[in-house]
Parts: sequence; C-alpha cells; structure tokens
Amino acid sequence: MIRTRFAPSPTGFLHIGNFKMALTDFILAKQNGGEFVLRIEDTDRERLVDGAMESLLRTLKWAGIEPDEGVKFDLNNKIVQIGGKGPYIQSERLSIYRQFVNELINNNHAYYCFCSKERLDEVRKIQELNKQASGYDGHCRNISLEEAKKMIEAGESAVVRMKMPKEGVTKFTDLIRGEVSFENKLVDDQVILKSDGFPTYHLAVVVDDHLMKITHIVRGEEWLSSTPKHIELYKMFGWQPPLFAHLPLLLNPDRSKLSKRQGDVAVEDYIKKGYLPEAVINFVAFLGWNPGDEREIFSLEELVKEFSLEKVNKAGAVFNLEKLDWYNREYLKKMSNEELVKRCGVLFEEKYHISDNKCQIALDKVVGLEKERATTLVELVENVKFVFELGEYEAELLVWKKSDKAKTKENLAKLSQILAKLSDFSKEKLELVIGEWLKAENIGTGDVLWPMRVALSGQKNSPGPYEIAEVLGKDESLRRINQAIAKL
Ligand code: GLU
Repeated sequence: MIRTRFAPSPTGFLHIGNFKMALTDFILAKQNGGEFVLRIEDTDRERLVDGAMESLLRTLKWAGIEPDEGVKFDLNNKIVQIGGKGPYIQSERLSIYRQFVNELINNNHAYYCFCSKERLDEVRKIQELNKQASGYDGHCRNISLEEAKKMIEAGESAVVRMKMPKEGVTKFTDLIRGEVSFENKLVDDQVILKSDGFPTYHLAVVVDDHLMKITHIVRGEEWLSSTPKHIELYKMFGWQPPLFAHLPLLLNPDRSKLSKRQGDVAVEDYIKKGYLPEAVINFVAFLGWNPGDEREIFSLEELVKEFSLEKVNKAGAVFNLEKLDWYNREYLKKMSNEELVKRCGVLFEEKYHISDNKCQIALDKVVGLEKERATTLVELVENVKFVFELGEYEAELLVWKKSDKAKTKENLAKLSQILAKLSDFSKEKLELVIGEWLKAENIGTGDVLWPMRVALSGQKNSPGPYEIAEVLGKDESLRRINQAIAKL
C-alpha cells in the first residue's frame, strides 16, 4: 500500500510550490489506491505563525485535496486528527523524538554539542574567509558520553548532533532524478535536538515518516541536499528508507527561484483574486509535467488517472501567469451558470450586498453575461456591476459614430414604444422583433443597437444589448432607455 504525506510547517500561507507538492503527493496516493497523510511540522518554534495551520487546511480543502489520515477539518470545520499513527502534529510528539535521540546517543551515532553561538559564528566566518564549505567543525564530536553527561548535570546547555560518517558516499535513487550521491565528508553533523528539547526537522521527519509508514516522499528540490542526512539516520536506526522524489523548483519567467517580488506566491492570493481550484490544480500540475500529447485540460480525477512521476521534467518549471489566466477562462466558460453563482456567492454579497434569493434579477443570468469574457471570478462580479447600479455616463456616449443626437433620440423613443408592447423579453424574441423593425424601416443596426446597449449598460464596452435586456427584464430595461432619451 502506497502512503504519501504532505508535511507543511505552519509558518504562513501555503506557497504555490508547496501546493504542488501536496497535489503530487495526493495524486500519487490516489492513483495507487493508497493513503495520503497530512502532518504538521511545527518544531521550529520561532517561525510559527498564528492561524497558519487553519489557513493551510482551508486552502487544501478549497482545492479538494483532503487527507485520508492526519490533521484535517471535521464537518464543523474544527481541526481534528484522524488515524492510528498519531499524533500528527510534531509538537505533540516530543517524547517520541527524545526516545529516538537517546537511542542514537547510546549507540554512538549522535553526540552532545556545547558550542556557543559565538563560537559557531566564528567558525563560519573563518570558513568563509578561507573559501571553505561552511559546516560544523566537529569540535564536540569526540567528547565522551560520560563527560558530556557531567557537563549537562553541571548546568551547561547542549544540543545533540548526528555523527555523519566522514568517509564514503551516500547514494539513493530519486524517482525523478535517478541515482544521486553525496560525499559524506561534505555533509554536516546536523543538529537533531535543540537545547529547547525540540527536535530539528531532520530528526522529526525521519522518525515520523518511518513510524507513519510513509512509502513515498515527494517534496521540493530544496530538500535534496538534506536527503543524505536522512538516509544516514535511517541506517543508524536500522530502518528501510522510503522512496524519494524531489520535484523541480518553480521559477520566475527570468528563471530565478519563484519569489514574492515577482508576483503572488501564496495560493490564498489566487483564491482571493477569484481563480478556480480546477484551474489552479490543472495549471500547477502542468508545471514540469505533461501527458506527452496535446491535451491540456485535466480535472483532478483525470490527473489521478494519467499523471506519472517518470514524465516529470527535472529542470525547473517556469510559472507563467498568462497560462493560469488561460486555464481560468477555459474553466469559467465551461462552468454552468448555476455553479458559477455558487462560486461567486460570497463576492456578490461582499460587493453588492445581494444574494441569489435577495436579488430581483436571477444571478445565473447575470453571471452568464460575463463568463465568456472575464478571467477571474472577481473580474466577473466587477464587470456586471452595471446590472445592479447604472453608473453615470455622458449623453454623447449614446450617439453611434455615424449618427447624431436627434436621430439617436428618435430611434430610442421608437424602440421604447416597441419594447413596451412586448411581453416575451427573451433575447431571441428581442432580436427578432428589433431586427424586423430595423429591416422594415431600413435603419442601420448601429443606429439602434449602440444607443440601446449604452442606455442599458452605461458603458462603452459591455455584453450585447439583447443579452443585457433579457437579464434586466422589461421594466428595468425600459426605465434605462427612457432615462437615456431624457438625457438627449
Ligand atoms: N516541513 C517541511 C516543509 O515545510 C517538509 C519537507 C519535507 O517534505 O520533508 O517544507
């Protein structure tokens, strides 16, 4: 049984790169009938951010990437931990880590280190000056356990470091990169337990992945250089390491590492802007992967069927926002109006203080006006503002470029009379009736449709007049047309 995990640290909003990891872990588990675990890695106490765990879970829920096991929301949106291998929040597992750290110390795989911050800074400075690789110099590596215990009893503060072998190489096969090897002498004696009694990421991640029976670790390339330390820890414990896949970094268009400076990196920013989860998932999945043919639109279910780690490109993937916009427009166009109303509900409430049942005009028709034109939900809701409140506009805007005020007024007056007699205000009927009138009296379409559209929308650009009239209905349409006539 395949078991994958997403193990975020609650240090802020969910980064789009981490979202890609979560998505890949989820897909990998689902395509093999496996399980996806969510673990919270909160051992770095200085970087914790209040509310970050809730925000991470909310974002994953928005995307439909929900764990089978671990930390999640229950039906009442309360955070719960589900599964028999918990707790799944690392700060609740301190005694477990302590036990394994002791095991390493007793087996001479780890040692107490008493070096002060000042000494370590000094070592680093000298290494920099000599252009050497930075890392711990092994100062405390040979202090005997007996002596170390005495120093601790005497009140000295200590951390625990793993004893990385200083010879040989550590090798592993990465599912994306193939065989990777590191020279052990270049790998640091990593701190595994801090003086505050919290483990570091490296120890906790190994212990937890083992105890939680994780079979595949899919994570970002930035962790690749930590993997030899992890492999050595597995060896020291006598455990079988899981399989590793390190996904390529997401890059800015100039191929630098994706950063906040060049745009939004938090998934929440995209949610706020009104991107659809379907589009974000599809877009993110295609960063560094494609099915090997021309198809580009993939639902999460289709990704589960077709995604494969072997086809992931090793090189970094450029984060191209125009492509995300394209995906979002594609999904907006395809979405039913009813579904769109659901997705836009909160935005309508916030912006116009209306909800579907409080509104005179059916919102499913309103969203239909813009869904072929807008890029995001926010844009869609903004673009239909004219439906709810007709903005100020100049009388001149009503006049078609080949026409004049008097002619425009006359045409609108006639239009108003015709519309007043109509009971069916569907766009098909409007098109038919107005079309016949224009033909019979040989009036140019621009002479009527332009002022009609401006009268109804108050805007230079908008959807077509028949569509707007149908959405506004007879009373409101006539009111607006008569108002336009009065302006002229
Ligand atoms: N807590 C680490 C992070 O936030 C997890 C890295 C890993 O997946 O091993 O990136």
